[in-house]
Amino acid sequence: MSSRLPGLYTLTVAERRQRVAEAAGIDLGELAALDGGLSEDDAAGMIENVLGRYALPFAVATNFTVDGADALVPMVVEEPSVVAAASNAARMVRAAGGFTARVSPPVVTGQIQLTHVDDVDGAAAALTEAAPTLLARARELSPRLCARGGGPRAVRARVLARPPGPDGGVVVVHLDVDCRDAMGANLVNTLCERLAEPVAHAAAPAGAPRPRVGLRILSNLSDQRTVRVTCVAADDALADARCPGPEVRAAIAAASRFAELDPYRAATHNKGVMNGVDAVLVATGQDWRAVEAGAHAFAARTGAYRPLAVWREVPGGLAGELELPLAVGTVGGALHVHRGARLALRLAGAGDAPRLAALAAAAGLACNLAALRALATDGIQRGHMALHARAVARAAGAPADLVDEVAEAMAAAGEIRIEAARVILRELSAKDLP
Ligand code: NAD
Repeated sequence: MSSRLPGLYTLTVAERRQRVAEAAGIDLGELAALDGGLSEDDAAGMIENVLGRYALPFAVATNFTVDGADALVPMVVEEPSVVAAASNAARMVRAAGGFTARVSPPVVTGQIQLTHVDDVDGAAAALTEAAPTLLARARELSPRLCARGGGPRAVRARVLARPPGPDGGVVVVHLDVDCRDAMGANLVNTLCERLAEPVAHAAAPAGAPRPRVGLRILSNLSDQRTVRVTCVAADDALADARCPGPEVRAAIAAASRFAELDPYRAATHNKGVMNGVDAVLVATGQDWRAVEAGAHAFAARTGAYRPLAVWREVPGGLAGELELPLAVGTVGGALHVHRGARLALRLAGAGDAPRLAALAAAAGLACNLAALRALATDGIQRGHMALHARAVARAAGAPADLVDEVAEAMAAAGEIRIEAARVILRELSAKDLP
């Protein structure tokens, strides 16, 4: 299939569905699941105190090639421009071969906290010695995951605090688990709970008092389950009518260095990355809070908050690289019940967790490129304000044939407010009177 669907944005929603269904080889009728994709009963079973189902726009970004294969990238997001930005940047990158992703094995880390450990070094040494036995026990506790080729991979002890202190000596045991195509939170939490007693026992060498078991839960800083995605955009793809490619390239590389120097800028830079990542995660029913928490902890892992994506000038173009933890699943979690999210995975052709992670990361790098290019050329506000002005014109009651005229008049006057839109509408309507 090709993800090049030129002019998709000019079609009506019904026409777009037809075109996307054909491109993805999915029965048109099945796309009805995109309107919610969740029954009231299922919603009521998912969370507490349910009153209804909340809708957001569902779209696909076009032009993506990731690891040599085209994909339509599903996105659910409330912010204008994100889907257009992703599609535009994917087109720039496509000419140079698209995105390349390196996805690590899907290893998630669980933590078992031990407190009131008298001899933290002795406990850590005892745990290291007992690691093969603990690992074997963890494998026995997860036969189905092991049968799928995943399962526990390592047990490690870290000393966090020495006595005295409010919790005495604190040691944490990390359990690394290959979760295959699951996000893995429940799998890892269950394993940590079941392994906690054997771990506490192993931490107390003969005669030593037994430590207390504290928390038993996964870490969302899944720095072993990462995606590194790279791309190149050639100068001629970066150029616009007023700005030659080499200038755009230099400006984007300078913007990247700004983010590398300054956490205030890095936060906004990373927000642009997460515009793309989160939109894919929401569309495909993922735990986006888990990924957000992991992404920002990863961005700060050196002690300074850094950009997740960096851009460098290369001969004739610009090379981008994004790395972040992405614990995503194509089974389990909300996918058990959400038909819309399952359909999104099919639209994307994301049959396993590594492919989904690669697509989400590519969307993140694309959104970052589009934002930096806009900032480096026009200033991002121009395009944004035009979209915002149209939304305000609609909110002020402008009929479809007057939306653009009202929006342009507001933008020209530098006043994008509902009251201004109403005044312009009244003026336009008065002009039409005989
Ligand atoms: P899950 O509990 O639905 O478990 C996944 C299931 O899929 C398992 O039963 C497994 O046997 C099965 N499975 C089928 N095919 C598989 C395959 N190919 N690979 C792997 N497993 C396969 O889901 P989960 O992924 O363990 O947990 C995700 C959920 O946990 C999310 O809803 C998340 O919001 C939630 N959660 C998150 C946190 C956190 O991030 N801190 C904490 C608690 C819960």
